[in-house]
Amino acid sequence: MVQTILKKLASLVGLEGALLVAMIVYVGTAAIPDSVRFFPYAVFTVGLLVSWRFRRSRLLFGLLVLAFADRGILLYVGDVPDPFSAVFQAVAFLVPINIAGITLMAERGTFTPVGQARLAAVLLQASAVILLASWIPGWVNGGLHLSPLPDSWFVWSPIAQPALLMFAATFGLLIVRLVLRSNATGRGFLWGLIASFLALNTLRGGPVPTIYFSTAGLILIMSVIEASYFMAYRDGLTGLPARRALNEDILRLNGQYTIAMVDVDRFKNFNDLYGHEVGDQVLRKVASQLESVGGGGKAYRYGGEEFALLFPGRDPGEVMSHLERVRISIEDAKFALRGKDRPKERPENPNSNRKPPKKVSVTVSIGAAGRSDHRSAPSEVISFADRALYQAKKAGRNKVKMANGRPRQHTA
Ligand code: GH3
Ligand code: MG
Ligand code: MG
Repeated sequence: MVQTILKKLASLVGLEGALLVAMIVYVGTAAIPDSVRFFPYAVFTVGLLVSWRFRRSRLLFGLLVLAFADRGILLYVGDVPDPFSAVFQAVAFLVPINIAGITLMAERGTFTPVGQARLAAVLLQASAVILLASWIPGWVNGGLHLSPLPDSWFVWSPIAQPALLMFAATFGLLIVRLVLRSNATGRGFLWGLIASFLALNTLRGGPVPTIYFSTAGLILIMSVIEASYFMAYRDGLTGLPARRALNEDILRLNGQYTIAMVDVDRFKNFNDLYGHEVGDQVLRKVASQLESVGGGGKAYRYGGEEFALLFPGRDPGEVMSHLERVRISIEDAKFALRGKDRPKERPENPNSNRKPPKKVSVTVSIGAAGRSDHRSAPSEVISFADRALYQAKKAGRNKVKMANGRPRQHTA
């Protein structure tokens, strides 16, 4: 329980949160050198390159919003936040709204009509803020400085209540999204929002707001890189680590380990019968069953309807019972079809003899092999496991087979 909460908390903080905390400590304790003025340019340039190379238009929009906010305040407010400035309050109001908008929008190319419209929206806001610097309609100024709650509650912040409300609402939105589905992108926007809040909330002025805005940009860049790393090592359908992760994990092991190859039986027929979508759902269910195999085993999607289970430190004899148990649990499981994938309750053609199932089940065949003195290369161990899998198929499927050959003898 405690471990789950700690894990959840760590996934909320991530590298992005750690980076911000490091920056807060730095700003609070170190003498800031003059050269810090290159920081925003470096972040912006690297960010543009990453956004172009990784094709992440949302990073571009995020960086533009941060850059406009930073430069707008420097140019039109000065290097100390001025709570009475309409430009300052307008920027403080718009930054969280834009971060919320970028978080909610889907990734689309910058040069698509949608992308162009988004770009236009950012530029329009920047123009409106510049206009505010020379001409402020009374109602706009009044609106930005509205204070329905007692001012004494907010003396700690130069940000007026409407903008504070926007920050709070966006913060709530991002937290909820992140708790529901933790990912690097969501984390990047959350910590980027907090960094932007610090940029606008500092009473210290000088280079500090710019440092925090640049940190927000750096956080967004980092989250894109992290998300890409995640994509390379995770399988999109099942959420399991992918084959690439398996290959690297094996190389990190030394000593004994056992690997089991798991293949869904007659899955081509299954797809033909129920459709590819139902097949995908079942693969997800099988994946989640394999994940809880026990015995210290870790599940991977090897490709297609094949999975692998890696048991570090175990020899085949030790994992046999776990493999049997997971095979039986998959055999016994009745997977409920959900949503639109579920065939209609009553077929319109009553003569159809293809009864629509509400629950389906599959079986798997498993072949396992352990590392031993006469097969120590990972590829060799995998190919022995594959051979054992073939034996399991030949023996009638829905079986677990061990590779022939003695596992390595332990010397006490
Ligand atoms: P066997 O018991 O010998 O393993 O028979 P099989 O039909 O499972 O084996 P085969 O290798 O002939 O077919 C594998 C099928 O798995 C083919 C393909 O339709 C299906 N498959 C592979 N990847 C996916 C996927 O991501 N989603 C779905 N729905 N089906 C997949
Ligand atoms: Mg197969
Ligand atoms: Mg198969």
